[in-house]
Amino acid sequence: MAYQVLARKYRPQRFADVAGQDHVTVTLMNALTQGRIAHGYIFSGHRGIGKTTIARILAMALNCRNAIGSAVRPTAEPCEVCDSCMEIKAGNAVDVIEIDAATNRGIDEIRELRDAARYRPARDKYKIYILDEAHQITDAAFNALLKTLEEPPDHIVFMMATTQPEDIPQTVRSRCQHFSFHAVKLVDILGELRGIAEREGVDADEAALSLLAEAGDGSMRDALSIMDQAIASAPVEDGRARLDAGQIRELMGTVPNAVFERILEAVDGNRSAEVITVANQLLDAETHRRSWRGSL
Ligand SMILES: [Zn+2]
Repeated sequence: MAYQVLARKYRPQRFADVAGQDHVTVTLMNALTQGRIAHGYIFSGHRGIGKTTIARILAMALNCRNAIGSAVRPTAEPCEVCDSCMEIKAGNAVDVIEIDAATNRGIDEIRELRDAARYRPARDKYKIYILDEAHQITDAAFNALLKTLEEPPDHIVFMMATTQPEDIPQTVRSRCQHFSFHAVKLVDILGELRGIAEREGVDADEAALSLLAEAGDGSMRDALSIMDQAIASAPVEDGRARLDAGQIRELMGTVPNAVFERILEAVDGNRSAEVITVANQLLDAETHRRSWRGSL
């Protein structure tokens, strides 16, 4: 099987599995249980914190073929096993259309979308448009979209994921429910990394995982990308990759406290040659770190 990056392999398929966005998932599940579905949703917040993941789970929950409260689907979570859930999970459902606005930002695409939106879904209950990087949609295209939002057909749901909600026109925003996502807490990222290390059969000490979680800086996806690289470059012992803090620090160029202490001692002792040597080592590490982060 082809190698799948961790962020994709462990992408949550249920609301309950999305870390750190309970204020969003609980509200959406309540709305689903009550059948109060909006025609437009805006999911905003930093990159890599679960906006499109939640949009996909919501799409599954909306088009799941099993009723909420049935034996296979006791709660508003998608059942994950019906045709519709499986297709959305695999990214090939005809009634769930994902558009990356960064590449399809023109008026023509949105016009096409507006015309297509008039037709009923091919099979499932809703025709769902997930617009990623929605702030990149042009004003003219937003106006075309607005026409649909002003008089939305019952079967249409738009979900816009964006890092810059303020760039979405007020006229569009006022017709959508807006959910603002939080940066993922360090402890939540750490918990996720710990679970994934275990499932991947990777030996990782707590300090190593903490460094990876910190490097994610509130973004689950970034933390997982760094973990991918750390695992790929880790030594293997008895068939298991082994992550330790020293190796990860080296990979990331993070400066251990001991190096700072050495510099301070050298400054204190007027040993300028030693200060320059250590500073050069730090610069080398920084160059290494930049080239490494740049490849993410
Ligand atoms: Zn289902």
